[in-house]
Amino acid sequence: MPPSATDAARVLVDIGLAHLDRPFDYAVPPDWDEAARPGVRVRVRFAGRRRSGYLLERVSPGAARSDLAPIERVVSDEPVLTPEIAELARRVADHYAGTRADVLRLAIPPRHARTEAATPRPRPDGDVPAPAPSGWTHYRAGSSFVTALADGDAPRAVATMRPGEDWPDLLAIAAAAAASSGRGALLVVPDTKDVARVDAALTARLGPDRHVLLQAEQGPSARYRRFLAVRRGQAQVVLGTRSATYAPVHRLGLVVVWDDGDDLLAEPRAPYPHARDVALMRAHQQGCGLLIAGFARTAEAHRLVRTGWAAPVRADRDHVRHRAPAVAAATDERAGLHGRRLPQEVFGVVRRALPHGPVLVQVPRHGYRPVVACQGCRALARCAVCAGPLEQPAESAPLQCQRCGRSEEQWRCAECGRDDWRAVSVGEGRTALELGRAFPGTPVRRSGMGHVLADVPDEPALVVATPGAEPVAAGGYAGAALLDGDALVARADLRAGEEALRRWLNALAGVRPAGEAGAAVVVADPGHRAVQALLRWDPAGFADRELDERSEARLPPAWRLAELTGPAAAVADLLERSELPPGSDVLGPFPTSAHPSSPGRPDDGHADAVRALVRCRLTEGLALSRALREAAGVRSARREPGSVRVRIDPVDLQ
Ligand SMILES: [Zn+2]
Ligand SMILES: [Zn+2]
Repeated sequence: MPPSATDAARVLVDIGLAHLDRPFDYAVPPDWDEAARPGVRVRVRFAGRRRSGYLLERVSPGAARSDLAPIERVVSDEPVLTPEIAELARRVADHYAGTRADVLRLAIPPRHARTEAATPRPRPDGDVPAPAPSGWTHYRAGSSFVTALADGDAPRAVATMRPGEDWPDLLAIAAAAAASSGRGALLVVPDTKDVARVDAALTARLGPDRHVLLQAEQGPSARYRRFLAVRRGQAQVVLGTRSATYAPVHRLGLVVVWDDGDDLLAEPRAPYPHARDVALMRAHQQGCGLLIAGFARTAEAHRLVRTGWAAPVRADRDHVRHRAPAVAAATDERAGLHGRRLPQEVFGVVRRALPHGPVLVQVPRHGYRPVVACQGCRALARCAVCAGPLEQPAESAPLQCQRCGRSEEQWRCAECGRDDWRAVSVGEGRTALELGRAFPGTPVRRSGMGHVLADVPDEPALVVATPGAEPVAAGGYAGAALLDGDALVARADLRAGEEALRRWLNALAGVRPAGEAGAAVVVADPGHRAVQALLRWDPAGFADRELDERSEARLPPAWRLAELTGPAAAVADLLERSELPPGSDVLGPFPTSAHPSSPGRPDDGHADAVRALVRCRLTEGLALSRALREAAGVRSARREPGSVRVRIDPVDLQ
């Protein structure tokens, strides 16, 4: 029988190995001919085993060989992989030196058969009217951004929000503008608390049925049902956390990323993509609008402004000052003295503000006494079994390992043998206790890991929260104290200053303006650049200097950087096999034990684990990723021992 035009298909098999990251051809048996459409899930036999895969395309007769193995079955006739997302997965894999199979595992939720068979909800009738720019009118280039979206254009903007801004509403207006042009919109935010706020704003602007939420926290059935609603075009607007960045929104008109400095937007699974950068790729690829917005500004977002790729959208300086609380810095120098940790200025701000409403106290650390060290030699106290860091979980409780949970009843310093210890930092639990004692009769509300409060009532209370867990105070906080700032900016991390400023701005954005007696104090060295930027409320100026410094130091986002982690022999082998682009330089390999502040890394199991950094100019970035991926492909094909983790521009860079 002569081959017909429909007898073969190109399949991307779900195997995350570099040398197998390409489509393979399979014959399509006549029974499956109708169902075997591009984008469907299939089962195939690969290297003797049954595997899942995605059918990418049907192959023309000339291209198909006659000895192909057949597709075993089409799992479902639902085309879950659209051509746009297949192309996006390729771009993301290329950028991050990863495999398409790994990207697609992040992009497409597992199948849920009963959900697939359920009758879908119809898309609401009628068009979305073009919204008024409302709150965007307070921003230079704000109204024109919204108008351009409503006109069907693809504007790109980096928006720096005023303190106290009702930002979920501004995001919802932008989404409504894109929807009014008959296009879809995709909004990505760091966490479920943000999802809840933007969800409410979208419902207010669009009605209840135009948008869906995509979050990893949803159960498999709910997540798949909503994914299908997006893929089938029933939901025009999608809101979610980082994995929603890949949602197959029909006629995508706008991608929004809120607070792109939040490391929750960085994917912890291979190939470690960052939602902001995936959003950029989508905007490039699909020619849609882009909005990166936040109270802070990352060096990455600022680079888009500096190169002219995105327009800055911001309020006038006078206007911003008018909306910000009065902020002062207080130093921590008396902190070493016994029993006295908080500077007097903190008590002053709290005392003056409390009669007028809730007062926010931001504490960087969870727990009670989360970091303890030897009283003699100052070495960090570590678990005798797993060497994990120890903490004191409650007053008078024995030290406990943060990694394995074991109680250390009789701790002894591994370095010098002493058995007494001191607290290096104080967590929100201990802080809440101390402040509660200092202000007896005042309610103390805690918000942090495991018990995040969405909001607090507009009445006097101490609200002790870890960064990112600050509840919303409807009438604004009367005052705020940001504790332990020096520990934040002194972290051994490239982004320590930027991250400290981001956390502070996000917290103080919820405090009343100075004109309404809103006041705040940050406990940190006032000479630090991040503290200065907070006092002046100048995130753009900070980002400008930050980007200059990164350029001079040849660091991201001014340069491309690849981090290689793994057993020493494997890292050396990968580097040797990589044809690095001209002008790139290699730093290291260094032993990873030189970075004890990052417990729980996947390389922890190897005694001889090392880390190497390779950097190059941005123009050579794709070539660098390609070189590393090809070398990894040779290694995986030859089954060389030891796997190397490759991360491109990792967010936690020491
Ligand atoms: Zn010691
Ligand atoms: Zn342990």
